[in-house]
Amino acid sequence: MNERIQEKLSILADAAKYDVSCSSSGGKRKNENRGLGNAEGMGICHSFTEDGRCVSLLKILLTNYCIFDCAYCVSRRSNDVKRAAFTVDEVVDLTMNFYRRNYIEGLFLSSGIFKSSDYTMERLVRIIKKLRTEHKFNGYIHVKTIPGASPELIQEAGLYADRLSVNIELPSELSLTTLAPEKNYQEILTPMGQIRDGIVQNKEEKALFKKVPAFAAAGQSTQLIVGASAETDHQIIKLTDSLYKGYGLKRVYYSGYIPVTDDARLPQVTQPPVIREHRLYQTDWLMRFYGFEADEILDPAHPYLDLEIDPKLAWALRNRHVFPVDINSADYEMILRIPGVGARSAKRIVAARRFAPLSLDHLAKFGVVLKRAKFFITCRGQALDAREYDEQTIRRQILFGAGSVRSALVTQQLDLFAQAS
Ligand code: SF4
Repeated sequence: MNERIQEKLSILADAAKYDVSCSSSGGKRKNENRGLGNAEGMGICHSFTEDGRCVSLLKILLTNYCIFDCAYCVSRRSNDVKRAAFTVDEVVDLTMNFYRRNYIEGLFLSSGIFKSSDYTMERLVRIIKKLRTEHKFNGYIHVKTIPGASPELIQEAGLYADRLSVNIELPSELSLTTLAPEKNYQEILTPMGQIRDGIVQNKEEKALFKKVPAFAAAGQSTQLIVGASAETDHQIIKLTDSLYKGYGLKRVYYSGYIPVTDDARLPQVTQPPVIREHRLYQTDWLMRFYGFEADEILDPAHPYLDLEIDPKLAWALRNRHVFPVDINSADYEMILRIPGVGARSAKRIVAARRFAPLSLDHLAKFGVVLKRAKFFITCRGQALDAREYDEQTIRRQILFGAGSVRSALVTQQLDLFAQAS
């Protein structure tokens, strides 16, 4: 690879790392002493397919020049960073060369906006069209659409990309207007609606005709920045819920705000809110696979996720009147809601109890985390009567373990605190 391309690659792969819409590896290991491999700064990230396979993607921007000035973005117009832009052929060649060498199995392509939205989107489309039609590239392609790009270009992108995404970035229109005044919600939601309709229509056509070209077969996704604006977790998960239900999104990704620019409109933070981001992912999981509604997990009176414990446990502790649940007779939907019981364990429980009543030993074999579940279940008369324990005790025992020195110390401190207050 010549030096010019290498330099562009290091700038544009580095700028792409802030987009979390595909999981990224953060390795920093260099290739020293002519060893094999190099995990540093070359934009290879990992993503997961629907069947759970992990695929390596070349993750780059076409350019980090941008005519917009979004406050939270490292590529914003007013930021003093080194700029670069690939040509269409350079991205195509890089992708093909990396693919042939088995470095990657696909491409994740995004871009700043140079000249105009359509000018940029048209180049993204040319890249993926060339890969698919001239080079017969059958690897995975994920393309970020450019805000404000015309519907024809988005339609065409869907013919060549497996996944399309439209980044919302900020969880409310007010924040978007404040921090990214050149963008507007309508320009984000309209292409999302267009992609949703295109996917539905494509499925219907496929049912009728065999040889219909695919349209964004791996669906669409979006990204929300968490912590750059004042929205509560409740507002964020309500928005997420409406995106899954209204736009059929495959995934909503959460990106803890990383301060990359000096801007008085942004909060002063030194660390990205990693735990908050993690709790939001757990909540997202509960809404997609465990039948929870956003308003059950949080409400205006409890607008933030508990950072200390996972949202399912927090829900169970707030709703202790529905527990204990009898493992041998409760509905599948209720079993899913027991802390310590995952979707796979719940299915095993429901399948196995048809043959014989289950005991706590069975549950342990099915992968149930009894350390958590024991406070919320009864099982053939075996139960720890959780009603004897108050919420704080259950919380401490789950977090630190019953009888541990730390648990005892925390209990002591809390008791002292309670007496003093
Ligand atoms: S449009 Fe995209 S690349 Fe440009 S400043 Fe805004 S977030 Fe950054």
